[in-house]
Amino acid sequence: MALVAGVIRRLDEAVVNRIAAGEVIQRPANAIKEMIENCLDAKSTSIQVVVKEGGLKLIQVQDNGCGIRKEDLHIVCERFTTSKLQKFEDLASISTYGFRGEALASISHVAHVTVTTKTADAKCAYRASYSDGKIKAPPKPCAGNQGTQIMVEDLFYNVNTRRKALKNPSEEYAKILEVVGRYAIHNSGISFSVKKQGDTVSDVRTLANATTVDNIRSIFGNAVSRELIEVGCEDANLAFKMKGYITNANYSVKKCIFLLFINHRLVESTALRKAIETVYAAYLPKSTHPFLYLSLEIAPKNVDVNVHPTKHEVHFLHEDSILERVQQHVESKLLGSNSSRMYFTQTLLPGAECSSSEVVKSATSSSTATKGTSDKVYAHQMVRTDSREQKLDAFLQPVNNPMSTGPTEETTGVNVGPLESASGGQQGRPVRPQDAEMEDVSELLETADLIEMADVQQDAVMPGGLSKSGHLSPEKALPRKRPREDTDIQMEEDTRKEMTAACTPKRRIINLTSVLTLQEEISSQAHESLQEMLRDHSFVGCVSPQWALVQHRTKLYLLNTTKLSQELFYQILIYDFANFGVLRLSEPAPLYELAMLALEDPESGWTEEDGPKEGLAEYIVEFLKKKTEMLKDYFSLEIDEEGNLTGLPLLIDNYIPLLEGLPMFVLRLATEVNWDEEKECFESLSKELSMFYSIRKQYIIDETNLTSSQNEDSDSGSPPWKWTVEHVVYKAFRTHLLPPKHFTDDGNILQLANLPDLYKVFERC
Ligand code: ADP
Ligand code: MG
Repeated sequence: MALVAGVIRRLDEAVVNRIAAGEVIQRPANAIKEMIENCLDAKSTSIQVVVKEGGLKLIQVQDNGCGIRKEDLHIVCERFTTSKLQKFEDLASISTYGFRGEALASISHVAHVTVTTKTADAKCAYRASYSDGKIKAPPKPCAGNQGTQIMVEDLFYNVNTRRKALKNPSEEYAKILEVVGRYAIHNSGISFSVKKQGDTVSDVRTLANATTVDNIRSIFGNAVSRELIEVGCEDANLAFKMKGYITNANYSVKKCIFLLFINHRLVESTALRKAIETVYAAYLPKSTHPFLYLSLEIAPKNVDVNVHPTKHEVHFLHEDSILERVQQHVESKLLGSNSSRMYFTQTLLPGAECSSSEVVKSATSSSTATKGTSDKVYAHQMVRTDSREQKLDAFLQPVNNPMSTGPTEETTGVNVGPLESASGGQQGRPVRPQDAEMEDVSELLETADLIEMADVQQDAVMPGGLSKSGHLSPEKALPRKRPREDTDIQMEEDTRKEMTAACTPKRRIINLTSVLTLQEEISSQAHESLQEMLRDHSFVGCVSPQWALVQHRTKLYLLNTTKLSQELFYQILIYDFANFGVLRLSEPAPLYELAMLALEDPESGWTEEDGPKEGLAEYIVEFLKKKTEMLKDYFSLEIDEEGNLTGLPLLIDNYIPLLEGLPMFVLRLATEVNWDEEKECFESLSKELSMFYSIRKQYIIDETNLTSSQNEDSDSGSPPWKWTVEHVVYKAFRTHLLPPKHFTDDGNILQLANLPDLYKVFERC
């Protein structure tokens, strides 16, 4: 077989140009980057990008810059035409982006380009179209604002292979958003926007008066922006300057986000990224990464960032020394931010009333940062990996102290019946000893010996009506509650029979709009990542009756037990509406005396003007007696004919509210509840009840402050409050609480520290 030599022919010039252009402009985002740089060179303060089909059909970039003179329009798309470079020496000190006059020319070889532009001194705008670098016809006068609009249509219409390689417009659009978003961050003071043609909303949008951090927030979200540390350093010897923002150790993502500008061009430097990531490795959980935005200015003679429009990877002179300087600086900033953060949060420990938006925010952001990702938390990153491990209490109390054990555990000493705590200040349920009125209460309560759980309730199943999603599913939520066999006046006779007969409690289905609306209000307010945190938390310990520490993944949180428990009981009251068991008082508690006690408490705010207390107390009794049917039916709040309180709702198993709060509850029930409107009534009543049920510090004495004889209180049979908080209340938080969004803002959930930070601190010790 004869081999025939191929004929070598010179390629058609248009084809050569097209191939060259395809190298320069590989995808719509490259073209847009070049065009944005031109806008910036033209001193624009507003840059608007509109695209269609990921830029493949149309890219339109409009600016308000200096415009192009009419007489330059005919050569603007020719190769090597530029207004930015006159002689070779200029190359060393160039401060504009482009200087080779290559971008527009390249684009015009692979797309239809139309330029509309007006300079400040021109009377009107001019428009011209281009093909293969050549102007098609003389510029036409037209109307237009100062600045330039460049329209690129049908990109790669004449390059089949390229067009086929880019068949996913949404991928291209994502790239475009990325490039413009990054330039927007780097150019605060200039407004940017990107949208799809026909859309009214922009997908990237920054404002002229926004700061760099504002822009990072609007493009990367709060999770990033609230964890930023400002960085900045320079070195005259190495002839470089660096500034930017980087995330602290509270933030981490699966993939490093690195916005690097060198001499104001968006570039890449693997060496620099690796150098910085090495520093972060000590701070972030394994295989997670930071967000970095750095702007480096390097003496132009030491770097060529304009190597090639698509060649982003840059190298520069003194690279190693510069990297080292940057590393040192980042390290010092990370350490600094952590120690100040620790100090800052420490001032917020127990009792602190004010909330710190800074700390609070970091709690939410960190959870959002980890949310949805399958970020593994390894055992070595956890303080505690097993809930059976020792709690905080172990460090505070002798190990054999019954305090740290559950009520099922045998306690030493006389075992008095659960609710029959002997009288006498020290042995009753902890009350404020200094408070005479409260002692009265305890007496009263002791005579009543308060509460006796109704028999059936012993085998009550898990209460609460929240399904995982937070929606009520009454039909499915079967026997979670003991039967409401304590006479139910409102219930149909046969329903009741059925219940007793089958011995299977039937959940009453509530169709009251008011209740359903309240339920919706709760679920619409739910904060997903906080919910996840609560669901998966490990309990660390109670700091005080009001505050407890929990751990979630590598983070430690301080939670306001009072506020969270109040919300928990409120939500149970709303979701389990009319489906509660009853906590029966072993002896009826006279409402009159409860009301009197409350009125005597200065907290009630009673003044002479309100009239005699006795009269008010009587009125309260009469008033509440009129509401008994409703109170009993919907809230399991039982009042007998003589005006005695006989039952309270059973909201969660093994939980009895501290009855020191009962007098005030009765008073508020009569005075603070809105009895006129149905929804408001249920809402305010539930609020009052939940306040009464919540864990409140004024009704709890921290046993650790008591003497050992006082400590015998824990033998009274009722579990110590710490046990209840951990095993009853926090357990219920896991499944029954939809934490409302505002909890992050009002300081009820604070992130104290995360482990990488702590390790760092230990390492330095
Ligand atoms: P370079 O930017 O390297 O000069 P380009 O091909 O990107 O080359 O642009 C060619 C010339 O077109 C620029 O030098 C500039 O004079 C003009 N030009 C392009 N875009 C704009 C714009 N948005 N505003 C003003 N002038 C522009
Ligand atoms: Mg250019």
